[in-house]
Amino acid sequence: MKNHAHRIAGFCLGPAQQVHIQVVEETGSTNADLLARVGSLQSPVLLIAERQTAGRGRAGRTWLSAPGASLTFSLAWKFALPLQSMVGLPLAVGVALAEALAELGVGVRLKWPNDVLHEGGKLAGILIETAGVDGDTQSCWAVIGIGINLMLDPEMAAQIGRPVAHVPQLTERDRDELMAALLNALAQAAVLFERQGFGAFAERWNGLHAYAGQPVFILDQGKVLHEGAAIGVDGSGRFLLDTSAGRTAVMAGDVSLRVREA
Ligand code: ATP
Repeated sequence: MKNHAHRIAGFCLGPAQQVHIQVVEETGSTNADLLARVGSLQSPVLLIAERQTAGRGRAGRTWLSAPGASLTFSLAWKFALPLQSMVGLPLAVGVALAEALAELGVGVRLKWPNDVLHEGGKLAGILIETAGVDGDTQSCWAVIGIGINLMLDPEMAAQIGRPVAHVPQLTERDRDELMAALLNALAQAAVLFERQGFGAFAERWNGLHAYAGQPVFILDQGKVLHEGAAIGVDGSGRFLLDTSAGRTAVMAGDVSLRVREA
């Protein structure tokens, strides 16, 4: 495992070079592990699990993965920003991930707020959890958790029960180099987000939007909150849609977007 951490570090560039990399055989959730440790971390940490047994999504949902067939990892990063400035971070991370995957030859689109889609199915999930810093309201930690399906077996796809995607072509690549390419993109995005906020990513997000112009619903616990034509995101990461009452901006809380089938 140490050997993998060492190899990944060797492929790191720029701000990713300050990240301490750890690889473990198995854990429940890399996000939970790092969140429990943020109080004692001295530098950003990337924790990669070969097998994650209790992967988490938003609002207590689960993320499924299988050893060798998925990438599951979390990056803990300290931002010189107050907690409330973190709302656009999941979207900025989506942009970084999408652009890194595009460089690896995988075309993806983004579904607000935090899904990465490939050929219409969900390829990757992003879960960001934040923690304050004792005695410093102007800083916080974000634990950026990511799961990517490399090779889904039909059984797991059926278990997930919604359109999913995978990228078996990436299993032919050097896994450590792949991990480093993703880390390089994430670390760069973290630095830019700290300096300029989500504003620096909004146009890039809109260029990757999966449903631009399409009829969509915004659901809150299964109930339709808004319905209209998807526009994209504004400079703070709110989702814009044109409804019968005019243009509406939706904050990412625990709301979900669904496309209306024609
Ligand atoms: P939204 O309501 O925004 O669509 P979500 O339902 O996608 O959110 P997330 O927290 O982003 O919720 O992700 C968790 C969900 O992802 C699970 O409830 C499940 O439907 C789906 N899921 C779980 N594992 C995988 C996987 N390996 N690949 C694709 N999708 C998965």
